[in-house]
Amino acid sequence: MGATGLVIQLAYVIAAALFIFGLKLLGSAATARKGNLLSAVGMLLAIVAALLDQGIVEYQWILLGFVVGGVVGAGAARLVQMTAMPEMVALFNGFGGMASLLVGAAALATASGTFVLVTIVLSILIGGLTFTGSLVAYGKLSETIGSGAVQFRGQQIVNSLIVLGILASAVMFCLQPENSQWLYLIIGLSLLFGIMVVIPIGGADMPVVISLLNSYSGLAACAAGFAISNNILIVAGALVGASGIILTKIMCKAMNRSLSNVLFSGFGSVSSEQTVVEGEIKPISVEDAFYVLEAASNVVIVPGYGMAVAQAQHVVKELAELLEENGCVVNFGIHPVAGRMPGHMNVLLAEADVPYDQLLEMDEVNPRMETVDVAIVIGANDVVNPAAREVESSPIYGMPVINVDKARTVFVLKRSMASGFAGIENPLFYKENTRMLFGDAKESIGGLIREFS
Ligand code: NDP
Repeated sequence: MGATGLVIQLAYVIAAALFIFGLKLLGSAATARKGNLLSAVGMLLAIVAALLDQGIVEYQWILLGFVVGGVVGAGAARLVQMTAMPEMVALFNGFGGMASLLVGAAALATASGTFVLVTIVLSILIGGLTFTGSLVAYGKLSETIGSGAVQFRGQQIVNSLIVLGILASAVMFCLQPENSQWLYLIIGLSLLFGIMVVIPIGGADMPVVISLLNSYSGLAACAAGFAISNNILIVAGALVGASGIILTKIMCKAMNRSLSNVLFSGFGSVSSEQTVVEGEIKPISVEDAFYVLEAASNVVIVPGYGMAVAQAQHVVKELAELLEENGCVVNFGIHPVAGRMPGHMNVLLAEADVPYDQLLEMDEVNPRMETVDVAIVIGANDVVNPAAREVESSPIYGMPVINVDKARTVFVLKRSMASGFAGIENPLFYKENTRMLFGDAKESIGGLIREFS
């Protein structure tokens, strides 16, 4: 290895260290910005080193790709609505998978030996299924294709046939790499498999799929790294793969489910037998809600996806401050799968500068719920649905939820009686101690703020 080679390998080691420290710092809200910056510097270093390392003969195509990709990426990130952020993350995941597929396919030009051929198959397989799986996830999140599970008779058999087809073509590809039809077959079947594995998962189970696809995109990059013998791609891919798996485990725990149960049981599909709810809806006006809040000494705010839609995080913070000025203790109860992406509520509340120590996780907030005067549910639905505890036939039975119904009074801020992402009835709305404050969450909270001032 010459001097340049040594410098490049050293740059890779430094980049890998920056990724790891960056990830560590991302673990806490106070240090997350620094962690992001550190990882970005690591990535820049890795890109520069890789461009010098791979014996590139022509830079103009890379430059063109860099400019086009950079413009599209920066433009999309600037233009995208805050509410569409989860969909964008799903798309980015998918493009990561597609990039690994292309790198794997291109590596064939210089491939030699069975090991490299196997890594090519893996990068194409995982990359391809990540791409189409993420596109389906995008469709479900944006509700362009309906968020429910799609199941049909013989689905497992079709899936098994696809897997067999992939295995057979992979073996043939390793035996006859010069015969490109095997490569195309693996690509086609992988793309099909991605669709088939994500369509039967729906409703409340999507958080697990999102984090799993995130992990797959890392594994695909890792395999691509082996295919082109690039150490930093292997390390970065492994880090994404491992952190995605950890996130998947957290999401499964949050939903009290095992991964195999999520992937193969079709949970989250809306059961035909809908929950039968008893009781009546009791709407409340902003004025009356204000009188109750003015007298409250302990309030828990539980945000959900509707807070993101209404972009109500800033007014929520304002209301929390007014309540505190009035001598009330205010906390936020954060459910791990609230919103449409992991950490969604934390991101929004951090944007509004809500102090981090006011955010309580589900396990912390639930035991104290009985001492809470008012629980204010802001655009949350599935994550506060008591059917998860009470109705055995409910598709979300067994999923831990924030027990707002145990507070003395519950205010639910939403626009209508529409269901949440899982598409199921919520008995909370009919409980004796629940009052529905109908309307856009930002407007309703704005009304409460006006009453206070
Ligand atoms: P839900 O999707 O259950 O409910 C959101 C509620 O917000 C709706 O009932 C809607 O009612 C209300 N809403 C929408 N817009 C407004 C508005 N402008 N003002 C007031 N209310 C509004 O959200 P949750 O956060 O409770 O649950 C998240 C769900 O998403 C779970 O099922 C979870 O599994 C799933 N999911 C989560 C992901 C994650 O990673 N966190 C990823 C993918 C899915 P209305 O229309 O009547 O106003």
